[in-house]
Amino acid sequence: MRGGIKVLIEPHRHEGVFVAKGKEDALVTKNLVPGEAVYGEKRISVQNEDGTKEEYRVWNPFRSKLAAAVLSGVDNIWIAPGSRVLYLGAASGTTVSHVSDIVGPTGMVYAVEFSPRSGRDLLNMAKKRPNVIPIIEDARHPWKYRMLVGMVDVIFSDVAQPDQARIIGLNASFFLKSGGHFVISIKANCIDSTVPAEAVFASEVKTLQSQEFKPAEQVTLEPFERDHACVVGGYRMPKKQKAGA
Ligand code: SAM
Repeated sequence: MRGGIKVLIEPHRHEGVFVAKGKEDALVTKNLVPGEAVYGEKRISVQNEDGTKEEYRVWNPFRSKLAAAVLSGVDNIWIAPGSRVLYLGAASGTTVSHVSDIVGPTGMVYAVEFSPRSGRDLLNMAKKRPNVIPIIEDARHPWKYRMLVGMVDVIFSDVAQPDQARIIGLNASFFLKSGGHFVISIKANCIDSTVPAEAVFASEVKTLQSQEFKPAEQVTLEPFERDHACVVGGYRMPKKQKAGA
């Protein structure tokens, strides 16, 4: 209950993500560290029928491209309870904290960020979240953190760099299992502000394809982010077995 209005929590189509249904619906994740907010986000406490309490954190799509992708109707984020995720471009850990909620105690998030300033907040957040390994390094040099990162199920990338497709490809070659998945947020004007956003997205998809990625879907992040797209797909996908084989 909040402010006298009963809030119902319903599972979202994406496992580990929920919708709080109250006066207005909000996307939420189940707080791995009840009682603690990470960046001043609203928390919602609900009591189960058996009297136990659970806490959820509101996940704002205007502050998180992954939340924006979920609300834009992306088919699959490949991040679910138990997933091992390599997160490139963690910043101060806003979205990382929600990914940590989603993968839960049996999952793991390796969060790479090269800015020492954002990295400080990321390190502090990770102190309270045992499933987050913060890595303050340049994602262009994955060999520097290869001792810290195991094989992962999915790479999420939000580095907003002109060479981001090359960066995710390099990291995939080190850490992404064959048959794993990728989710990349592409900010068109970071790559080329002289051509239409759609042309940038198409050329990025081609660069991804040249690195053994198999892009499967693309959603625009409007109205949450302008000229951003989220592309999702597989990596080194096993060849389909012939019918009857
Ligand atoms: N994903 C974050 C979130 O939702 O809270 C926001 C990420 S912000 C758009 C991009 C971040 O990527 C910045 O914090 C920037 O410092 C980081 N970054 C850019 N290039 C990088 C690189 N080569 N290695 C590591 N981090 C990088």
